[in-house]
Amino acid sequence: MEATKVTLDQIVSLCKRRGFIFQSSEIYGGLGACWDYGPLGVELKQNIKTCWWDFMVRAREDVVGMDGSILMHPEVWVASGHVSGFHDPLVDCKESKNRYRFDQLLVYRHPSRTDLPLFAFMEDNPDPALAKIKKQAKGTSVEDYSVFPLPEIPEHEYARVLGPDASEPGTLTKPRQFNLMFKTHVGAVEETASVVYLRPETAQAIFVNFRNVQQTTRMRVPFGIAQIGKAFRNEIVTKAFIFRSREFEQMEMQYFIPRDEDDKWYEHWREVRFNYYTEVLGIPKESLRWLPHPPDKLAHYAKAAADVTFLFPMGWQEIEGVHNRGDFDLSQHAKHSGKDMSYRDPETNVSFVPKVIETSAGVDRSVLMALCAAYAEVEEEGEGHKRETRTVLRFHPNIAPTSVGVFPLSKKNELIEPSKRLEAELRADGFRTDFDVTGSIGKRYRRQDEVGTPFCITFDFDSLNDQAVTIRHRDTMQQDRVALDRVSEVLRKKVKEW
Ligand code: ATP
Repeated sequence: MEATKVTLDQIVSLCKRRGFIFQSSEIYGGLGACWDYGPLGVELKQNIKTCWWDFMVRAREDVVGMDGSILMHPEVWVASGHVSGFHDPLVDCKESKNRYRFDQLLVYRHPSRTDLPLFAFMEDNPDPALAKIKKQAKGTSVEDYSVFPLPEIPEHEYARVLGPDASEPGTLTKPRQFNLMFKTHVGAVEETASVVYLRPETAQAIFVNFRNVQQTTRMRVPFGIAQIGKAFRNEIVTKAFIFRSREFEQMEMQYFIPRDEDDKWYEHWREVRFNYYTEVLGIPKESLRWLPHPPDKLAHYAKAAADVTFLFPMGWQEIEGVHNRGDFDLSQHAKHSGKDMSYRDPETNVSFVPKVIETSAGVDRSVLMALCAAYAEVEEEGEGHKRETRTVLRFHPNIAPTSVGVFPLSKKNELIEPSKRLEAELRADGFRTDFDVTGSIGKRYRRQDEVGTPFCITFDFDSLNDQAVTIRHRDTMQQDRVALDRVSEVLRKKVKEW
């Protein structure tokens, strides 16, 4: 499958038009970086979660699932390091009132003209800075300038920085650390109640339940615990649609291993997780790439980490992290809770604190990836031999919100009744169906193509005699006549061989 170049605007508009994703609280003007999934979006999202769960938990003997609460004891986040270390460095612009991530700002700096500002810009949007250079720095051209990350600019030059949305230099504040966790209170009276956090990741519920799960299931190390659930981060830079939201879902798995096996299992999970995207979700291999974390950028406890990145319209970005976390988390919880978090090997009788390999993927980012990877515009001959552009979402049938569209050729009862029966049978066989009677068959195909339905079935007048229907395939537009009693079997085979 060839990747089509798609813009984020095209995806956003298709999502709204067809009911995949809406802005949260839209009628009140929206709430920043929060999104609501409509009927098709929730199906896509649910299918992505089901694929992950089936692949990571149900298909494996060595992984079990759990579902932890969102609110946890506040000490959990002290032990995990989130209270002291889950920060983003931020700068405010006193003029525009906009807020930026310090580490995501760059500047154009002229090598000799100290009378000129340092033109700051967001890494994905240099245009306003380039326009200012053209207007304000006559006699220079963009090629004269070097680009520096703002954190590398020496302190004495900071006052010369012209913010991305400012008209005068010197309006950016010094960076401040900003904790990304949302706080709330449990208990009736706010002042006396204790502060709790909305969890910023699902992983900690797995760590604190390690002993509960291990003892109740009698799983032996190495084994994993997996969880899908909501996480919350008070993100500051939140563009790019659902890519970076304040409320999102994660699919995480912590794999507990003997202390000397971390390299082996890290490699194992990297391979398993990369192949999952191509084989289960049908994402083209060339749109996926590993981005290893450089050793000097690793979290202090991590031995190795790498991100699976996908080529989004805004560039290569992370969809999943695979981390070799050592025994940091279990040891920290043992220290802070005073409880033993070790595991005793029943064969050797030796007790130890297992090390952990983590796989941590985002549901919403997977949804956005699936939409971007599937989007295609196809030119074809329409009604009256006019050239028309057809929008198609080429979803893998595993994740398509609807897997089969069923169309009676006419609204006559003699066709409606048997085609409804066929739809009910397909539904009972596990297909996600949509019954459509309005408009020409061509229009109905287009409507299904646009939401990624891989198969459409037309029940026509001949069907009454030959007891067969036409199956039309979304990507090839090929049409096959198939006996009514073999439709389910034929479709199942197609999905299996996809
Ligand atoms: P980033 O560097 O993009 O902020 P991260 O390294 O902080 O991501 P992790 O803490 O490793 O992300 O979280 C694991 C996964 O959770 C990410 O790969 C991503 O898919 C998802 N995720 C994290 N933050 C968000 C968010 N604000 N919105 C949507 N998904 C997110």
